[in-house]
Amino acid sequence: MPKKLLMGNEAIALGAIRAGVSVVTGYPGTPSTEVLETVAKYNESLGSDNRNNCNDIYIGDIYINDIYIEWSVNEKTALEVAAGAAFAGARVMVTMKQVGLNVASDPLMSLNYLGVKGGMVIVVADDPGPISSQTEQDTRHFAKHAKLALFDPSTPEEAYIMIADAFALSEQYGEPVLFRPTTRVCHSCASVEILDDLPRTKPCGFVKDPRWVIFPKLTYANKFKIEDNLKKMSEEFSKYKNNILTRHSIKDNNARGIISGGVSYAYTLEALASDEFKNIDYKLLKISAYPFPDKLAVEFLSGLDEVLVIEELDPVIENELLRLCGLHQLKVKILGKGTGHIQIAGENSPDSALNAIKIFFDASINPDQKTQSSQTINANPSTLTPNSTFNIPNSSLSSPALPIRPPVLCAGCPHRASFFAVKEAAKNTSAVFSGDIGCYTLGNVVPLSMTDTCVCMGAGITIAQGLQRAEPDTHHFAFIGDSTFFHTGIPGVINAVYNQTDIIVCILDNSTTAMTGNQPHPGIGITMMNTQVEKIDIEKIIKAIGVSAFVKINPFNQKEAVEVTEKLMKQKGVRVILFESPCIKIKGVKINKAVNISNKCTGCKVCINKLGCPAISFENKKAVIDADLCTGCGLCIDLCPLFAIENNSGCAEADHAI
Ligand code: SF4
Ligand code: SF4
Repeated sequence: MPKKLLMGNEAIALGAIRAGVSVVTGYPGTPSTEVLETVAKYNESLGSDNRNNCNDIYIGDIYINDIYIEWSVNEKTALEVAAGAAFAGARVMVTMKQVGLNVASDPLMSLNYLGVKGGMVIVVADDPGPISSQTEQDTRHFAKHAKLALFDPSTPEEAYIMIADAFALSEQYGEPVLFRPTTRVCHSCASVEILDDLPRTKPCGFVKDPRWVIFPKLTYANKFKIEDNLKKMSEEFSKYKNNILTRHSIKDNNARGIISGGVSYAYTLEALASDEFKNIDYKLLKISAYPFPDKLAVEFLSGLDEVLVIEELDPVIENELLRLCGLHQLKVKILGKGTGHIQIAGENSPDSALNAIKIFFDASINPDQKTQSSQTINANPSTLTPNSTFNIPNSSLSSPALPIRPPVLCAGCPHRASFFAVKEAAKNTSAVFSGDIGCYTLGNVVPLSMTDTCVCMGAGITIAQGLQRAEPDTHHFAFIGDSTFFHTGIPGVINAVYNQTDIIVCILDNSTTAMTGNQPHPGIGITMMNTQVEKIDIEKIIKAIGVSAFVKINPFNQKEAVEVTEKLMKQKGVRVILFESPCIKIKGVKINKAVNISNKCTGCKVCINKLGCPAISFENKKAVIDADLCTGCGLCIDLCPLFAIENNSGCAEADHAI
């Protein structure tokens, strides 16, 4: 079989295609985004000719001999669209990041009671750390809460195979199934053996039946079925090929055991391969699928005195073991997050797994190291940074420390211009700036400091409303991006108008979903099926809601942008400023030549201290421009009190060309 170097997310996508997925929906969110994008890439490579001459498979009017793909406006919508197709018998996949599941949780909780006909796999990427999320969340809790099965792959290769198991299980039990890779599985690469496609069945189509209408009576009846299914799945998972129990015996005396899952299992295997553990007896259990395989876990626990649980995010396996020890009266000491043997927050790593195992085995460590290790492990875990974990600085793969690079708005980013205009207008007044999720969350970074609150997608507008009730004499600004506006921003504006709030909503429209890699949204006019469609006009939506004032402006027209903001600040009601200027990373967006700094520069640093543009730095007591970064947006030109910054035609006046 051929092999392909695949990123974990690509492996999931190709595994789903191999399993015959027909509909893929989602909302972009790191670390999950590339799953859907890879399916789209595959779809494009089929080409329109190929789309029309094989397999004739339809769901209603939708022709699906290839795959239907959409970036939905949010995760709830994505889940519901996919559920509709699954009701008609199609194999469907939904993709999102862990916080996206919060948005989709309402339909998720009902779906299990209704069930599905076609296999439905919901890929939810967890983000230990977190690296690019507002929270650490463990989707294994959601699986338990929603009473759904969950697959937890350890590697890209495993994810490729396992997603087919997830589709099969979903169809076997008629229930959606969660599939949760974590960041390191999503973004690491591996050589994956590409297997033949699995046989694809034609969706049966939607058959009318009372089972699709959720009513309390139906829910009551189905609850018994769901609970029974969980028991059956737990039994089945005790024999599942990816829940693996191994025994490493020298004297046939396993008093200690290690249990792990997800990417932590890969770290554990790597650590156990060390020569220093070759004479130690232990049992090892890998958990890859939930509901928890009780039978297998009891077999693992029997005869053991101590077990170390190595897992990321929450102590899910650990708590299951404690439950089983109580239930079966097993006298086994369970060590893990609860006992401080594994850190309670952040990612595990090969080093942290090795260190935890060394301490657990108490082996091959000289007395000095032992003391050092014991001290470290008793340290308050909250003082540990995600990658420091319980470090022993002995990794043979040690690399030089990298400089810290805080995230920052790009040079030439139009959001910087929008924030700067509002900051100028609101200076010397009392104002609060409620932010939202997207690139523009970086507006909180100094020197802009324009994000006072940030909670979750769509919350900026609603938080501003609450603040306004508490502080009516303050100016309340809410910032939201175009994609987030479509995601969950619109209800907030409706609420503000209906409940007669005094806020200014700043929509930062850069014509893309920039944070996750420039995905389209309804305001762009192109779908993931590559079809041109009518754009949904933000201005028309805002006007239809009935706001008291509306202005659309290019934020690089700074003078006008400041003036309109000042004008709106004198008014009442829900006022909206639509700052329109495209993201500089969009293909085809015109970029000007870099600006120059003339010898008039005295090094006063006003340009640096006010804007924070990464293209401006300081060398030899003067400001310098990095011509590779500068987009010539001109925002800094008018700031220089000595007119030392000039555009490429030598003019110390911005031409607002972007
Ligand atoms: S604001 Fe003008 S004078 Fe001051 S450091 Fe920047 S370029 Fe030089
Ligand atoms: S013109 Fe000034 S603000 Fe704009 S990208 Fe270049 S250095 Fe940054």
